[in-house]
Amino acid sequence: MPGRNEGADRRCPVCSTPLSREGRHPGALLDALQASESRFRAAFADAGIGMALVGPDDLIIEANPAFAAMIGYEAPELVDTHIHQIIDPEDTPRRLYLELVRGERDRLRVEKQLKHRDGRVVWSNVTISLIRNGSGEPLYTLAMVEDVTEQRLLGDQLAYQALHDPLTRLPNRSLFFERLNAAFDSAAAAVAPAAVTGAVPVTSAVSVTSAVSGAGVGAAGAAVAAEVAGAAVAAGPAGAVGGGPGRRVGLCYVDLDGFAAINETLGHHIGDELLVAVAARLERGFARGEGRLVARLGGDEFAVLVCDSAGSEQLTALAADLIKTLEEPFDVAGQQLAVTASVGVVERQVRETTPTDLLKDADATLYWSKSDGRARWTLYDPARGAYQLSRQRLATALRPALERGEFAVEYQPLVGLADGTVHGAEALVRWRHPRYGTISPDRFIPLAEESGAIVPLGKWVLEESCRQAKRWLTEFPDTETFVSVNLAARQIWDSDVVADVAKALETTGLPARLLQLEITESAVLGPGGRPVQALQALADMGVRIAIDDFGTGYSNLAYLSRLPVHVLKLDGSFIAGFREPGPGGRPDNRSRRTDADEQIVGAMVQLAHALGLTVTAEGIENASQAERLRITGCDTAQGWYFARPGEAERVAAILREDRARTA
Ligand code: C2E
Ligand code: MG
Ligand code: MG
Repeated sequence: MPGRNEGADRRCPVCSTPLSREGRHPGALLDALQASESRFRAAFADAGIGMALVGPDDLIIEANPAFAAMIGYEAPELVDTHIHQIIDPEDTPRRLYLELVRGERDRLRVEKQLKHRDGRVVWSNVTISLIRNGSGEPLYTLAMVEDVTEQRLLGDQLAYQALHDPLTRLPNRSLFFERLNAAFDSAAAAVAPAAVTGAVPVTSAVSVTSAVSGAGVGAAGAAVAAEVAGAAVAAGPAGAVGGGPGRRVGLCYVDLDGFAAINETLGHHIGDELLVAVAARLERGFARGEGRLVARLGGDEFAVLVCDSAGSEQLTALAADLIKTLEEPFDVAGQQLAVTASVGVVERQVRETTPTDLLKDADATLYWSKSDGRARWTLYDPARGAYQLSRQRLATALRPALERGEFAVEYQPLVGLADGTVHGAEALVRWRHPRYGTISPDRFIPLAEESGAIVPLGKWVLEESCRQAKRWLTEFPDTETFVSVNLAARQIWDSDVVADVAKALETTGLPARLLQLEITESAVLGPGGRPVQALQALADMGVRIAIDDFGTGYSNLAYLSRLPVHVLKLDGSFIAGFREPGPGGRPDNRSRRTDADEQIVGAMVQLAHALGLTVTAEGIENASQAERLRITGCDTAQGWYFARPGEAERVAAILREDRARTA
């Protein structure tokens, strides 16, 4: 019965509600619809989030008060306003929006800058939804707008803080490295042209788009944006900033001289103020120009980075300028403070180096400026760098080499001048390096002293030498052959040398009287009582103390005689003056010098004897020297004339000969 259901099948074409027999909405449904609409209206009007309905012609149909307030209007004022009055058309991802309007997508989320009525920028997150009619045709769009300006400002602030030093407000180490890396990245891109297009490296966490924000975003945000954009410009494709594979980079690494003293004597607040003043002066004078950056790397260290430098002359001129600029006294807290600065300068082709190497070399060069007398600049010198590198390599290799057993001790006899027999032997350490062969102690002992490796090394030499002397004692019980071991200053200052010596004697069983320790005059003349106490304790144990290389330092015999010292070892340089007399015994210049040296040595020997010391002469290379020394009353001697340093067995062989001769 088709007629019976006819009425029930009639529905509203808009909302699909079943209609009454008369073709009307049932009363209750109409009410419900109206109620729903007023709920929607209330929600729209009272919503905390901004909302706007926009027609297909980009005119606003209706905006809610929250949205209007966000950009400084009353809601009715916005009706029929074109959206380009509120957003920058350039700033719209137009393609996506058109897709939405055409019904090809339902939703779009974008970050937008809105134009406030007073000109400010309002940052917003916008979600745009497409509203369709019952049959699915696009009708209009609904934008829901959230004001995120504060979050953005906060983000910019945090980014700024992450990249700037809070005290001086200069770019900090992180920003410095960003800029440095950017300079290298772009050079790499320039070498590989395929990588250039669109490859503007932005290494910062801050979006470059904030650079266009201008007014509205805080000064901090704008500054960060500009700086990072600066990095992008400096890092731009080759042609833009005169780049290419030959691109250069330069760095002045600045450190104030004597800043620690200012901090200590005048207080940290004055130190801080001085740093602020220095930073301001550096920034004023040197931060301008493309690809330039003045940064504080920490403490009183600053850096001026020059991306795209023109050559080392440009950088050395800049360094000279820097030093001059800082020479002018600073007015800090009502006082005039004068400081000087040391600068390390490195300038080279980008492709020849890495950011790490550049900074490492700048650091080394700064150190040269300091050690060469401060208040100066020094340009990196590859030869000096290579020498230092090899020293550094040796220094770091010392401890592992000791563990691998690469050190050996040679012994050089100490001969009694009166009878020509061997009284003892000096222990001289050698490094049998697997690659470089035997390395002389003159090369590695100073490094070991600097690095502190001398302490374990010296301990090893001490014990090894005592063990050897004990073997001689066992084989030649009557000769009482002693061993003479060199002690570095640092062993006396920094280690418990007294305990080490006691332990070496105990473990090897060598009587203390057969151990002699050689120390230089400078090692005992340092301030403080520690060396003297150590020497006294050693002497009390029965160990003999010799002053090595005597005559090269202060030669303060009167002072030394008050210390528990037993032997003076005259430096080889005195004995080198003991030459053969001129032909026919004529008193030429040479022999006059010889006379003088002989008289000095004679006087020293007499004085030493008068003070109860015995005297050993070093570096005896010929018979005549040995004879003259014997005549001056010198007790023992050491040198190539008697024997070169060698295996312990060579000393034993000589001891055997001596025994056979005197038997
Ligand atoms: P030193 O203690 O003054 O040692 C004497 C140096 O003179 C030795 O050099 C020795 O080989 C050299 N020499 C010996 N006779 C002659 C000679 O007739 N003519 C010339 N021209 N030289 C001669 P070496 O072995 O190269 O040692 C150099 C320095 O290294 C030593 O000077 C000493 O200061 C230091 N040294 C050596 N071994 C050790 C050690 O175990 N510990 C410490 N702290 N320093 C050591
Ligand atoms: Mg010595
Ligand atoms: Mg010596």
